[in-house]
Amino acid sequence: MKILVINAGSSSLKYQLIDMENESVLAKGLCDRIGLDGKFVHNANGEKLELDHPMPNHAEAIKVVLSHLTDAKWGVIKDVSEIAAVGHRTVHGAETFVEATVMDDEKVNVLDGLAEFAPLHNPPAVTGIRACMEVMGKDVPQVTVYDTAFHYGMPKTAAIYPIPYEYYEKYGIRRYGFHGTSHGFVSEECAKLLGKDIKDLKIITCHLGNGSSITAVDGGKCVDTSMGFTPLAGFMMGTRCGDIDPAVAMFIMNKEGLTPDEMNNIMNKKSGALGVSGVSSDFRDLDAGAEEGNERCRLALDMFTYQVTKFIGSYAAAMGGVDAIVFTAGIGENNAAMREDIIKNFAFLGAAIDPEKNKKRGEACIVSTEDSKVKVCVIPTNEELAIARQTLAVISK
Ligand code: ADP
Repeated sequence: MKILVINAGSSSLKYQLIDMENESVLAKGLCDRIGLDGKFVHNANGEKLELDHPMPNHAEAIKVVLSHLTDAKWGVIKDVSEIAAVGHRTVHGAETFVEATVMDDEKVNVLDGLAEFAPLHNPPAVTGIRACMEVMGKDVPQVTVYDTAFHYGMPKTAAIYPIPYEYYEKYGIRRYGFHGTSHGFVSEECAKLLGKDIKDLKIITCHLGNGSSITAVDGGKCVDTSMGFTPLAGFMMGTRCGDIDPAVAMFIMNKEGLTPDEMNNIMNKKSGALGVSGVSSDFRDLDAGAEEGNERCRLALDMFTYQVTKFIGSYAAAMGGVDAIVFTAGIGENNAAMREDIIKNFAFLGAAIDPEKNKKRGEACIVSTEDSKVKVCVIPTNEELAIARQTLAVISK
């Protein structure tokens, strides 16, 4: 059975066609500059095609994708009917869509109404779903898979903010959490790697990339996560501030005469590692800067290590223990020194990194010592595969 995974942005659309028999990627690519001049990249059969191809809207982009998936030279299937379902990466389901869902016209309209929860991400997903419905017809299930869904069942003690309860009731203001597809995927893969039933494990998953979040997974279920009502919350990221004293925002707005949008932009785009270092949001640049003696690059790196440590520690306490700590995403998968620095802080729990094992890259592996009381794993995330698995599960119900 073949599942097409779509990740639609405002002017782009990434796709992967996955064969679920062996979970292999048959083809993948990108439609970029939709609505502008249109660029198309398609990888299949070990070759890469790059084209200038006008795509006035997302429906035309989908047509370009489908025609190449079935093309004599570039195709990997004979007919579009071989696609069993489409899985759409969707950021925010709020409290309405709390699991992967087969969409129909009415549900798409409801999802459209949730735009204010993720103004940059939900509207393009809706556009992508409508485009697929238009081009592929009603017989192919269009399944939405949500970044928020994995976190939905967390206890109210973790989800509710200590502000007047009416704002939760009126506007749905609570912790939702993000990167849920990734946290769910790597926690499952961690259990497989350890040869244990996930129900018997307390896992802390650290998704450390440009955007970063940490989740406490007890028995396979999220019990707390660092991001909140928006992906600005938690610990410092490439350009986002994470949790700060909320009064700081009002203070700076008064001093600098800023509007809410301007302040929001500063906290999302100009803060975090970029704000502290003044150099870059990219951790490779920070490493290079620190190496050359730039103190603010060093400070940004040390702050990141410290804040990640605090979240891991608090989640170990929240779960009454931790069996495994998982690192994933750009920094988590690649930055061995950062992993070592973080895990050193958990010697008191009996956690220890094996420096040799910690050098491995690109595959799921255990990087802690044989006798480490807490297993430390590096697991490459694969959100497309996770979306395809959830899509398959929904249509198989
Ligand atoms: P996104 O959240 O945009 O998906 P990624 O998961 O790609 O981000 O993570 C980007 C971060 O990962 C950057 O800070 C980058 O420096 C870091 N990173 C990526 N590759 C490496 C590498 N080989 N070594 C160290 N850091 C890396």
